Amino acid sequence: MINKEQALNHLLDLLAVEGLTGQESKVVEAISKKMLAAGVKKSWIKTDDAHIRLGDGYEIGNLIVQLPGTAMGAPRIMFSAHLDTVPLCKGAVPMVEGDRIVAKDNTGLGGDDRSGCAAMVTLTETLLKHKIPHPPITLLFPIAEENGLHGSRMARFEDLGRPAMGFNLDGQCPNELVIGAMSAMRWRAEITGISTHAGLAPHKGISAGLIGSKAMAAVAKQGYFGRIVKGKRTGTSNLGSIAGGQASNQVMDHAVFTGECRSHKAAFLAHIVEVYRAAFAKAVQDTPNADGKLGSVEFTTIGDYKAFRLKKTEPCVKIAAKAVEALGMVPNPLVMDAGLDANNFNEKGLPTVTLGTGSHHFHQRDEYVEIAEYLTACEVLLNIARLAAV
Ligand SMILES: [Zn+2]
Repeated sequence: MINKEQALNHLLDLLAVEGLTGQESKVVEAISKKMLAAGVKKSWIKTDDAHIRLGDGYEIGNLIVQLPGTAMGAPRIMFSAHLDTVPLCKGAVPMVEGDRIVAKDNTGLGGDDRSGCAAMVTLTETLLKHKIPHPPITLLFPIAEENGLHGSRMARFEDLGRPAMGFNLDGQCPNELVIGAMSAMRWRAEITGISTHAGLAPHKGISAGLIGSKAMAAVAKQGYFGRIVKGKRTGTSNLGSIAGGQASNQVMDHAVFTGECRSHKAAFLAHIVEVYRAAFAKAVQDTPNADGKLGSVEFTTIGDYKAFRLKKTEPCVKIAAKAVEALGMVPNPLVMDAGLDANNFNEKGLPTVTLGTGSHHFHQRDEYVEIAEYLTACEVLLNIARLAAV
């Protein structure tokens, strides 16, 4: 029932629109235009004020399109696919090469997540054109996914029409159902020491750089740096940046270390963060100057998103699995070692499974979309809408 040529054109069109994180206006414009052409009424389309609440550096809010239901009594469902692409996709020009869409030049492609956006356009077009009975559907296109799932976190449940379940499109093969993902937390350690002349009075100084280095060495020695395995508990941690110091002849009195930690278990994530906090505190104690004075550290964290794990009996998982099976494929439930917009939806109490739309090698120069998989994903979405109507 899907017009494959049109579906492919939607994808090529949307891949050609630049829309890096925070600069999604043109993508919103392009999708809205396609929605109107598909028969969506102007009053069904809106953008929210997520960008205003996020502050400087964001052009436009989340795009929300609401299709009234045509199947009586069926609860509202939501589809979502993020608008933004990573900086590597700047200037991407898509082209078909054999069975794939690739970037013409040395850039990323942006199939993450324009393949999901285009599949949602194709779904809408097919439902309206063929008058296929469907429940009320919310189509959410969040901004700012790539820099920390911000658009989806800012989306208000009431603006979405309070859907009963969600289907997020942000992945690879159309039979892959992401039913769980990690939680993540960012940390920041601001270290204050004492600045003295490095040649004349180094013993009077306290090096913030040395404190940070000792802390990181202690974290690593305890086995909490990089990939972390403690019995059954696993996670990761990283030191992302170090800033500090002014001159080689001056004891460094100020340094900022930042990083992140991840785990599938919220309690273990909290534990990893505590290991970091304790290591910085101990490094301060272990680094007095000749007069017995100590430096200090201000250790802060920002919770990025919470882990989730859906049961296979959850209605959204069951419907997605059935939709995949109906096309002769075997559903492949997965747990991801990364965060997704679905983390935020699940945290808001909206059970959301994530499906692939044929996009591969995310965030790389050799990123591509497998055309057959993308078209299959369009069929899967259509099956989901049909199955949710009864
Ligand atoms: Zn993505």
